Amino acid sequence: MEEKVREKVELSIVIPIYNEEENLPILYEKLKNVLDLLGKSYEIIFVNDGSTDNSWEIIRELAEKDPHVVGVNFRRNFGQTAAMSAGFDIAKGEVIITMDGDLQNDPEDIPKLLEKLNEGYDIVSGWRKDRKDDFLSRTLPSRIANWLISKVTGVHLHDYGCSLKAYRAEVAKNLDYYGEMHRFLPALSKVVGAKVTEIPVKHHPRIYGKSKYGISRTFKVLLDLILVKFLLDYRTKPLRVLGGTGAVLFLIGFLALAYLVFVKIFLGQDIGQRPLLIFGTLFVLTGIQLISTGIVAELITRTYYESQGKRPYVIKEVVTSEAHAEKEALEAAV
Ligand code: UDP
Ligand code: MG
Repeated sequence: MEEKVREKVELSIVIPIYNEEENLPILYEKLKNVLDLLGKSYEIIFVNDGSTDNSWEIIRELAEKDPHVVGVNFRRNFGQTAAMSAGFDIAKGEVIITMDGDLQNDPEDIPKLLEKLNEGYDIVSGWRKDRKDDFLSRTLPSRIANWLISKVTGVHLHDYGCSLKAYRAEVAKNLDYYGEMHRFLPALSKVVGAKVTEIPVKHHPRIYGKSKYGISRTFKVLLDLILVKFLLDYRTKPLRVLGGTGAVLFLIGFLALAYLVFVKIFLGQDIGQRPLLIFGTLFVLTGIQLISTGIVAELITRTYYESQGKRPYVIKEVVTSEAHAEKEALEAAV
């Protein structure tokens, strides 16, 4: 798949879309109003994440008629994080703004985000101070998760889950993340030394279409958090954390067994029935296991850093008005 090289712009808006046919036209109009007033060069990148409704047809039409719109179509549903990551890769803007395609985020907040970014930040995250989602199933679990993420990662935000965020492009493009990791981008950006802050943004209830997530997401987020902690603190030195624990366990086990050997040989007592024997053996074995896992992790980390060019998604096509016009011209000439 070839894409014509697009020009650099000041602003790229990246919007993952999964079955948002009713929202798309309204969102496009609202965005356009705000962006045209802003007076900056911009592009709107809609990434269709395998929608089964008419979303792609709508995006294609918008992209064909409006030079500001870029449509990216995934071969299947790869998830919101993959869609955002594709948007980041393709974005030509100096600043990248991400938002949801369901009208829950408000395009009118974009100028405020930019203003804050210009104060010298690399990432400005939206904070849905007055969140319009179900309290028990969404807002409450999310508060607990946000508190925990802030504690564990040391990057303090009220609302990791808010999609409306502004990034300096070089920061966004240098982050690597997989699975459902997009909410952790501000935390992961610690690795590249980004300056992160937040501002309150508006939030609206979802009117058209359904939310793609349920309560189970909270548990997945907690699992991801363990991985994020690992990536943040130990990704360049896994042997230290795994091997360190392993060495301590090994030592304890070794001392226990040495003591038993002493008891057996010099005191002539039976040691077959002693619980310490099991503990000692377990500790020694676990210690060796952890150390070898640490060494394997070191090797994998190296491969991870040295291997290049892998992306977590497959793009089917990219439309722009220029490419479309060219194709039409070609077809007309035939
Ligand atoms: N989305 C996506 N792929 C998915 C799930 C969601 O691209 O597999 C998009 C969805 O179309 C929306 C955004 O991600 O633009 C957020 O989804 P949703 O509104 O369902 O999440 P919520 O606001 O309920 O957390
Ligand atoms: Mg939503």
